[in-house]
Amino acid sequence: MAKEKRPKLAVFKFASCDGCQLSLLDCEDELLLVASAVRIANFAEASSAVLRGPYDVSLVEGSITTAHDAERIQKIRKESRVLVTIGACATAGGVQALRNLRDVKEFASIVYARPEYIDTLATSTAIAAHVKVDYELRGCPIDKKQLLEVLSALLAGRKPSIATSSVCEECKKRGNTCVMVAHGTACLGPVTHAGCGALCPTYHRGCYGCFGPAETTNTASLEKALLATGKTHEEIMRLYSTFNVGAPEFDKARREQLVQIRPRESGRG
Ligand code: SF4
Ligand code: SF4
Repeated sequence: MAKEKRPKLAVFKFASCDGCQLSLLDCEDELLLVASAVRIANFAEASSAVLRGPYDVSLVEGSITTAHDAERIQKIRKESRVLVTIGACATAGGVQALRNLRDVKEFASIVYARPEYIDTLATSTAIAAHVKVDYELRGCPIDKKQLLEVLSALLAGRKPSIATSSVCEECKKRGNTCVMVAHGTACLGPVTHAGCGALCPTYHRGCYGCFGPAETTNTASLEKALLATGKTHEEIMRLYSTFNVGAPEFDKARREQLVQIRPRESGRG
């Protein structure tokens, strides 16, 4: 029997909502092409069939929140030729990284009737904090066009072409009127990584940063513009405290607001 030549694609989940994995299933027009180009070796959202490693490409969704996660990602890395992290949880720790700012035991005691059964780390961290990552796709969830670009580039043996600019540039390309300049609407587009095609400003609302920090950010300059829209330091701090609160650039911007709000408490996170 001829040896199967198609590369093996595996999809793994850590702490996350599954939304980024669903972006792959959301590729309705392209899904059959993807499925015929690769062997799906592990993808719990699509099939119960599991093929053993090694894998040519592994997509990893979710953040590391337990000791077991921290061990499992090491094994996945060893078995993967190329490892791509997908989404805000995998690339920045996700909204669950809010736990990094407080005492996780206190959270557990409030949320769970029997917190002694909860076995968790005190932090939620990005995959890259644990193993080498070859490509990162941002977003909450990721953009399916970027996912297809990465997969087709890897299958063709070329470098993926992923925009490195900010949402503002995508706004310009779409011919959007700037919601901040025209309407005084707060927008994190100037410091947010491109990838969504400026989805929110296109529908006349500000960007809230779900694609995480752009490659170069000037949050000090944006702070002045956000204050001019009427936002307070507390509100600006909250703008940075969502899906990518664990991203270093957003964490820094958030702490800078905290210094303005509570000068003596700013060290507490
Ligand atoms: S609406 Fe937001 S993302 Fe678009 S150009 Fe203005 S500031 Fe930038
Ligand atoms: S505009 Fe901002 S918040 Fe909206 S989808 Fe794009 S990156 Fe996410």
